[in-house]
Amino acid sequence: MQTRTVALLALGSVLVLAALVRPDSGDSPAQAEPDEPRRAVVRDWPLLDATGRAPRGSTCGNRSRRVLLSFDDWDYAEPKRMVATARTAKRLDVGMLYFPLGEPNTAYRRAHGKSLADKVRAQGQYVGNHTYDHRSLSTLGAAAIRREIRGGVRSSLLRPPYGAYDAQVAAIASDLRYRICLWTLDTRDWRDLTPKQVRTRIVRNVRPGDVILLHMNHALHRRYDVRALVSAVRSTGLKLCRPYREHGEPATSPVRVPRKLRC
Ligand SMILES: [Zn+2]
Repeated sequence: MQTRTVALLALGSVLVLAALVRPDSGDSPAQAEPDEPRRAVVRDWPLLDATGRAPRGSTCGNRSRRVLLSFDDWDYAEPKRMVATARTAKRLDVGMLYFPLGEPNTAYRRAHGKSLADKVRAQGQYVGNHTYDHRSLSTLGAAAIRREIRGGVRSSLLRPPYGAYDAQVAAIASDLRYRICLWTLDTRDWRDLTPKQVRTRIVRNVRPGDVILLHMNHALHRRYDVRALVSAVRSTGLKLCRPYREHGEPATSPVRVPRKLRC
């Protein structure tokens, strides 16, 4: 960190400092980048504004100082694990954001007569659209982008796979009444970190109002213990978003996620 700090001081810009420090601040800089899959347009990290805060689009409606955990993709080996983690979170008075893929969610509903996305909502957890089958939207034509979004789980939040989107994707998403929702802290669990390494990365980097990116299809997802994740965040003194409530009582979260989360 020392050489980086010196370099940053020389640059003397809050914006540059914010943009440079955050992405790698949990990893050894020497290990960063080389083996990461890259796509045409990837926002691995949302740009920060002049005050060092993430733009509203990346905070998914979390305008509080509470931290929001989010889980993407699908656990193909054990799909119902998503519901189990949602239940655990509710018991811990935590409201998370899930982005299950449309294709397996639809297949599961057809096979079992129930939508896991709905079951997660019933636990007061929020659910967003992560497209039908996880194609990089910024590489597709307009018709395919529409199909990918329409085939996803219905919501008002869209998290483009790989965080990859461009002006065309944004325009179509808006036309279909979606708001783009990225994240402000990437755990990089997809790089085969252990659950403990993920928690360490969170504890070292988490800041008030963060939206933390985690994955359900990660090889180690089944070993994620939501209790341990929650404890890790709480050990920093920060609070987590709570489950959806109506009139102060826990309730099923709405399909259209509110513009401002009731964290
Ligand atoms: Zn994904």
